[in-house]
Amino acid sequence: VLRMESVRKTFAGSVVLRDVGLEVAPHTVTALIGASGSGKSTLLRCANLLEEIDDGAIWLDGEEITDPRVDQDAVRRRIGVVFQAYNLFPHMTVLDNVTLAPRRVHGVPREEAEERARGLLERLGLGDKATAYPDRLSGGQQQRVAIVRALAVRPRLLLLDEITAALDPELVGEVLEVVRGLKDDGMTMVLATHEMGFARDVADQVCFLDGGVVLERGTAEEVFGDPQQERTRRFLRRVV
Ligand code: ATP
Ligand code: MG
Repeated sequence: VLRMESVRKTFAGSVVLRDVGLEVAPHTVTALIGASGSGKSTLLRCANLLEEIDDGAIWLDGEEITDPRVDQDAVRRRIGVVFQAYNLFPHMTVLDNVTLAPRRVHGVPREEAEERARGLLERLGLGDKATAYPDRLSGGQQQRVAIVRALAVRPRLLLLDEITAALDPELVGEVLEVVRGLKDDGMTMVLATHEMGFARDVADQVCFLDGGVVLERGTAEEVFGDPQQERTRRFLRRVV
């Protein structure tokens, strides 16, 4: 679904991603782990063309999306993104938040968009929240609405950046449960996370980033069970 090759990204001369390669197969979950500042968010933002890369190339479904002739908005419409701060519109109901992009950006008629949205809300345990405003929801519920909003446009790929980082510990589980459910449904996902237990449990592929380099990659079993690099071992000792 997604392929990155020799991606390099600098901010004002300092290298943030160096020769990053990534291959994401359909219906798999890739977890990006690594210390704060290692480049996880930047990698996700590059994949979604929110950041322009300095070198290398990125493909989505076989199409090179870093080709300057590509329609970037069309590419972004195929990728769902959820960030740590869920950024729901406070003056809109849950249903309006969720149907905004399908209606405005994808031209889906209101009735169809709402029907689809209600189905998704139901599935994520938010069936009774459609007419609620975000400030009446718990953090976990708001984050689930943000996930529904990302799914509402039927993306090929879902990018999740620390989606539980802003949540109270007791709310983390319900959001991770949703991700697990999406995996069971076959959604392709790349997620940056500090939840090592969850990464180990849900990820098909784990990439350890260190100073903008993918220092180690493998199955969850390989990276967590038998890390090859001393830096990976040190990181895991510190966080697990
Ligand atoms: P965290 O776990 O804290 O979220 P991260 O792995 O997501 O960290 P990034 O946010 O990708 O790390 O940042 C990687 C590096 O790039 C950091 O050194 C950061 O300061 C730098 N950086 C990120 N965005 C910008 C920007 N817009 N301008 C300048 N530097 C940036
Ligand atoms: Mg980050």
